[in-house]
Amino acid sequence: MTKVAFIGLGRMGHGMAGRYLDASFTVAVWNRSKAKAEDLIARGARWGSSPADAASNADAIVTMVADDEASRAVWLGKDGAASTAKAGTLAIECSTVSYRHALDLARELRGRGLIYIDSPVTGLPDAAAGGKLTLLVGAELADLERARPYLAPLSTTIRHFGAVGTGTVYKLINNLMGAIQIAGIAEGLAIAEQAGLDMKLVLEAIETGVAASPQVLRHSKRMAARNFDGATFTAALRHKDAAYAVALAESLLSDAPLIGRAAVQAYARAKAYAPDDDEGKMIEIVSRAKGKKT
Ligand code: NAP
Repeated sequence: MTKVAFIGLGRMGHGMAGRYLDASFTVAVWNRSKAKAEDLIARGARWGSSPADAASNADAIVTMVADDEASRAVWLGKDGAASTAKAGTLAIECSTVSYRHALDLARELRGRGLIYIDSPVTGLPDAAAGGKLTLLVGAELADLERARPYLAPLSTTIRHFGAVGTGTVYKLINNLMGAIQIAGIAEGLAIAEQAGLDMKLVLEAIETGVAASPQVLRHSKRMAARNFDGATFTAALRHKDAAYAVALAESLLSDAPLIGRAAVQAYARAKAYAPDDDEGKMIEIVSRAKGKKT
């Protein structure tokens, strides 16, 4: 059981697919744009002409695409992976999708005899390429045990939250909290700049103060320097995650005055401004809106 189909070779998926080659699995790959697969093909991966072709004969199919729409397309679309996957194949969805989609996809794939593992991830593209992701798994315990050999090359930590969908619940709250923090640091820094504070001092104070989290520390210096080289997580993806998280929150906490809604609005603006640029560009939007009110 070492035949993997890997679908979605973006910033994260490309490195993850490479981990299976490093571990000597037999790997078939598919990506919407083939250019991203060329070096993996040169390393021994088979190019599938479609998700269905890549998935045929696989023991496990791993997907890492942008969102619900992309996930639906690669699993259930015309020439989707589900059309050729044999019964008993592991279907491991690593993309960050909505909770509703995770449950719907699981039901659909189980109906076709596949074993669905909900496995969104935390970690940046360098962690993906180094097999150092944390996997946030929702699955029956027996299914997780069966999937472990396919999860091991990708990760240093597997957090099993419970049944299918629970990994996605945790991923969405994790990324919603991140969205709120990143929007918050952009606002805080923009205020400090407009008020004429010494930004070196501000950054030092943030680093040693209680408001700092790893997320705040990761973004504050880059935002203050307006250094957004090498985007690892885009404004479009952050907006998508926050929107999925707020949809989940609204289904569970309908009467709460959710602060996440403000984060969704902030990232909608960031997405309209520069969808494929780093999420930290949020500060450019906040500070562009300068102007004193007296
Ligand atoms: P990315 O670089 O933008 O890659 C997106 C992937 O999805 C590409 O392979 C893209 O194909 C594919 N795709 C998009 N729309 C599609 C469609 N309609 N049909 C088929 N394929 C489609 O994104 P990423 O950073 O790798 O993120 C992938 C997933 O991981 C997302 O769900 C993201 O939220 C999650 N994630 C990202 C990070 C991070 O730090 N970047 C961390 C944790 C989790 P093309 O190459 O043809 O465009």
